[in-house]
Amino acid sequence: MAINLDDPKKFRPLVGQAHQVAMNMLRPISRKYDKAEHEYPKELDMLAAMIDGLSESGASEGAGAAGVKRTDDGADGAVRNGTNLASVMSIAEMCWGDVGLLLSMPRQGLGNSAIASVANDEQHERFDGVWASMAITEPGTGSDSANIRTTAVLDGDEYVINGEKIFVTAGDRSDAVVVWATLDKELGRAAIKSFVVPKGTPGMTVERLDHKLGIKASDTATIRFENCRVPKENLLGSPEIDVKQGFAGAMATFDNTRPLVASMAVGCARAALDLTRELLERAGVTVDYDRPALAQHAAAAKLLQMEADWEAAHLLMLQAAWMADNRKPNSLEASMAKAKAGRVGSDITLSCVELAGSVGYSEGELLEKWARDSKILDIFEGTQQIQQLIVARRVLGLTSAELK
Ligand SMILES: Cc1cc2nc3c(=O)[nH]c(=O)nc-3n(C[C@H](O)[C@H](O)[C@H](O)COP(=O)(O)OP(=O)(O)OC[C@H]3O[C@@H](n4cnc5c(N)ncnc54)[C@H](O)[C@@H]3O)c2cc1C
Repeated sequence: MAINLDDPKKFRPLVGQAHQVAMNMLRPISRKYDKAEHEYPKELDMLAAMIDGLSESGASEGAGAAGVKRTDDGADGAVRNGTNLASVMSIAEMCWGDVGLLLSMPRQGLGNSAIASVANDEQHERFDGVWASMAITEPGTGSDSANIRTTAVLDGDEYVINGEKIFVTAGDRSDAVVVWATLDKELGRAAIKSFVVPKGTPGMTVERLDHKLGIKASDTATIRFENCRVPKENLLGSPEIDVKQGFAGAMATFDNTRPLVASMAVGCARAALDLTRELLERAGVTVDYDRPALAQHAAAAKLLQMEADWEAAHLLMLQAAWMADNRKPNSLEASMAKAKAGRVGSDITLSCVELAGSVGYSEGELLEKWARDSKILDIFEGTQQIQQLIVARRVLGLTSAELK
């Protein structure tokens, strides 16, 4: 059987469009919002309206953060390239433009991916068009997300939420926050559910914004919940505490979002490779893709090695998204894609700074910014170490209690 590694033909217009937007709309304002941390990039409003228009006309196939869902249209058994694949491909292009700005796009939050992944039909409709951020991390809980302390207690027709969430991407600007809270601390991970909390709900307060190494265009918020009441219909998925299913319900979101984060790393690293190749050429070093690396200039050989790493991350990203489109379990592949792309994304962008010398380190080019921006992609939605742990558990057939 032949394997065709070309991008699916039907996504070429979408990818081309995303590339144009990245080049003409994101790159020109990239440095401005890297400097103006916490200032809302108002240029994105127009862009978001354009993307909404494309989605409504059907032209974008529902790509983007909210495109990551498992549809039932695979029931005929046919192999398909669907919205998960379209999403990773278009997001990679947008991040070739700017990761921080992509993370600030209205209605494209990680909370939108969570809604797309686990909401029922009524909730899909009700939360359509809402910009949703995602709040899992707490002051005492990061990688060990099964230990979250935020509680949700049913009182009549409402859940009452209490707790504190930190590092919420787009937490200030979004219209709603998808909050992870436990229905019963005694029942452990099975009792963790996610809740959509609209902004303006009494009891929810954005306390502060954090200053960061990179993705400065994106706001990162601390949010407090004090007797914050939401209708019980805002619990995403089933309210039942299924001890047998354990954490699987909540974790399903990650199977869809980790390929997205991998695609951000792939896009940012691609930007660094493209510019570095250009800078090397200007300095008289041509990279020949058809000759052995060892027969070339040391800088060209390094670039070729990085291209190989990039390609591996790119293919893992495509595989994980394709499996989601084809309703295949992809937890292992989603973690492999994120682990590989997160690590090589950071390595590549920093090595490009090194290869370009003082030009790479200075603010005259965006290379130093991409090296700062890419680091977070190896941290959020599960760190490098956590992805490796998940891969090891899956490969060795061990439970989370057996391998920690
Ligand atoms: C800019 C930014 C944006 C973010 N956006 C969001 C967001 O939108 N929503 C959200 O909920 N969270 C968000 N986060 C939080 C992010 O997901 C966490 O920082 C991440 O999960 C790691 O948790 P932690 O910082 O508590 O580190 P810890 O879990 O304390 O880990 C510290 C170090 O120990 C390692 N480690 C931990 N456990 C193990 C283990 N068992 N084996 C080996 N190594 C281990 C980790 O890999 C890491 O290197 C964001 C963070 C940042 C910095």
